[in-house]
Amino acid sequence: MNYKDRKSSPVRVFSRKELKQLEQEPELCNHDRRTFLKWGALLSSQAVIGGGVLNLLTGEMAHADDTFDNVVQWVYSVCGYCSVGCGLKIGVNAAGEAVAVRGNDAHPTNAGRVCVKGLYEYKVLDDNDLRVAERGKYPLRRTSTGGWESITWDNATSLIAQKIIEAIDTAGPDSVGIYNTGQWTIEEYYAMGKLGKGALRTSTMDSNTRLCMAAAVYGYMTTFGSDGPPGCYDDIENTDCFFLIGTNPAEMHPQVWRRIANARKSSRAPKLIVVDPRRTATARSADLHLQIKPGTNVALMNGLLQQIIANNWTDNGYINANTRNYDALAAKVASYTPSYVSGITGIPAADIALAAEWIGRSQEVWSLFIQGVYQAMGGTDTVRQICAMHLITGKIGRPGSAPFSITGQATAMSNREAGGSSALAAYRNYYNPAHIAELENIWDVAPGTIPPHGTTVISSKSELQPEKNSMVEMMRKGELKVFWNACTNPAVTLPDLNALYSYLDFSNPSRPFVVVQDIYEPMETAHFADLFLPAAQWGEKTGTYTCAERRVNLGRQAVNPPGFELRPSYGAYSDLEIIKMVADKMAAMDPRFRTQSGDSLVGFNSAEEAFEEWKQVSAGKICDMSGMSYAALETNNGIHWPSTPANLLGGARLYTDGRFNTNWDRAQYGISPDAPWIDPDDKSRAYLWAVDYEAPPEVPDSQYPFWLNTGRVIEHFHSRTKTKRVAQLHEMVPENYVEISTEDAQSLNVATGDLVRVTSRRGEIVVKARITDTVRNGAVFIPMHFGDLDPSDVAENDGRLVSVNRLTINYVDKDCGQPIYKHCAVKLAKA
Ligand code: SF4
Repeated sequence: MNYKDRKSSPVRVFSRKELKQLEQEPELCNHDRRTFLKWGALLSSQAVIGGGVLNLLTGEMAHADDTFDNVVQWVYSVCGYCSVGCGLKIGVNAAGEAVAVRGNDAHPTNAGRVCVKGLYEYKVLDDNDLRVAERGKYPLRRTSTGGWESITWDNATSLIAQKIIEAIDTAGPDSVGIYNTGQWTIEEYYAMGKLGKGALRTSTMDSNTRLCMAAAVYGYMTTFGSDGPPGCYDDIENTDCFFLIGTNPAEMHPQVWRRIANARKSSRAPKLIVVDPRRTATARSADLHLQIKPGTNVALMNGLLQQIIANNWTDNGYINANTRNYDALAAKVASYTPSYVSGITGIPAADIALAAEWIGRSQEVWSLFIQGVYQAMGGTDTVRQICAMHLITGKIGRPGSAPFSITGQATAMSNREAGGSSALAAYRNYYNPAHIAELENIWDVAPGTIPPHGTTVISSKSELQPEKNSMVEMMRKGELKVFWNACTNPAVTLPDLNALYSYLDFSNPSRPFVVVQDIYEPMETAHFADLFLPAAQWGEKTGTYTCAERRVNLGRQAVNPPGFELRPSYGAYSDLEIIKMVADKMAAMDPRFRTQSGDSLVGFNSAEEAFEEWKQVSAGKICDMSGMSYAALETNNGIHWPSTPANLLGGARLYTDGRFNTNWDRAQYGISPDAPWIDPDDKSRAYLWAVDYEAPPEVPDSQYPFWLNTGRVIEHFHSRTKTKRVAQLHEMVPENYVEISTEDAQSLNVATGDLVRVTSRRGEIVVKARITDTVRNGAVFIPMHFGDLDPSDVAENDGRLVSVNRLTINYVDKDCGQPIYKHCAVKLAKA
């Protein structure tokens, strides 16, 4: 079906009075059946029109085929989209088809509620609603004329194995790049980590979680000694002050927002501070909105730390017993007075002082942060400062107080835990010989098999940061021979796309052999693929998902993957099965890719078998899951790690005793025991970072006078591979747009709906204008979800280029390598 042929659905724009009522009613930011029916409308809670205006699809349209009547079985599951980790049940009819989703009433995370993506998640399993031909059912090989030919799985795995062996023999193991996702299961990450490091021996492994929350990981690892958010969702009801920085839960994580909003109505009445350059729905609900200038988070955090220290709101007992480097921190922030910080951030000095006072004087403080921190200038440093704020006030490790990172994808945490890309399994330190030797022993591979830690992240640009290496740089230089891209879409999500496309173009003689493993073809990255491997997705396989609060959930298979009847030659397989097929083929072809006993490294034959092996790898480690089982995960509606047989459910909060993972034998990261955060006295103390504000690499000037900010809408997920194929979601936000302030729109002579040309030093796009007071003058916002290569998008946009990452700068955080998507400079003109 052509998207343009779809009947456009009526969109109701509510009056200001109705909007006020909606914004104050947290239940309506969530979508259980009761509110669905009560309003006769599906609330997307998305500021797609601007100014926090809520865009509603009429209930009649949304409800047309949303029925539970034909459900004969509800299959236990968890949402496969975002990291909130809502418990779901998938409704299956007598024919074995998925026909509904409902929230799991007993699940503590969402208590039966789901957001709009979750509500329609079964649609991605519904062959009648999707263009079935676009679900991959056949492995495909690129022909000499640029088309596809289908090949058997046997031939496909032989081809990928040959290409990998050829690359290793001619250019070394690191010429094989593996780039994966935050949407697999723990079992799949564990298998890929084992194949990549234990058999292929490549250190060129990364995942799209680099784009998503690398700053949180590096901030945690270099402060606490290890990754892992210290708190849990139950802190929400136990705090006195919410400090939300770079996050918009009212529109992006509505189940978290529901709990925050309900907590705010309680007798405890916690305060709400929101730091955001945009006046989002969350910011409009705040007691104090700090509308910060782009790229200045580090300066603000130093200002808050300065005020907390200057006013003696510190916990000196906690500082002395449980932290190091306090004096350097205090000296560093001393000059960051409110008036000085106001000059950098644009926030009134009195508001900075008031925010610090609320944080300093509140008994308990809960900080929430996401991409506005991670994808901004100084992302890792900002996370370190947030952690420092909790440490110097002693507000950590008890109910209601924690720094709490959230993330975009359902299993970004799982990738890091299981070592599916750049990390080593179970938070082992790549640089600690004892950790490496232990894992090699468990895996039955020879000492020295696991390669040295790679510093190769997915993206960087040598012109801007010559010291950084990346897979994109390796592509540019012709050093990457195989690029195995699984369950992610870099042709939409990486920065500076025009440059990437030139490296991957089929006319480039030094391009790598590109394998794309995904659920749909077409999808943008598959435009550049030599080999396409059709994968099963959420609901079509069983596995485990770690959500943002370290709760591991179980998602069970509800339906068979597409092309199941074509097996074993064709048909989509789970990523775990595909990884095993490749591992087995490589082991059969070449003894170098076997264990010391002569077996394939991926020996398990089911997801549950893989989980049982993984549990043993995690035993005794920071993210210990040895107490869990599939049965226990379902019975308890998820279990936090650490979880041991002796203490199954005791992992809700970390660092309750003020002891951290900074001793060398336990630390997850650190090139040597001399790393600043490694406690030289083995006292497990946290490290306080003293950092300075640094201006972003590109700021508006006379030629490119606007700040460009990129972000998300709730109706879509990542590059829309799935959500653009769900009619209800597509119709709510069918095309990309640019938010422009009223004053700037007048200067540019544009109105909502006009086409606007947005140009940066790297590219140009043409999108429709939305005039709004969500953005301030001199700043624009464009969603990150939209590609412009797939036929459906070309048709929807009449051939216009619309992908915002054609504009963004390929500049990455100095510590964690996460690209800065939240600010670069652009110019605008009416098209
Ligand atoms: S997308 Fe996130 S908030 Fe929405 S239902 Fe899924 S897990 Fe919950």
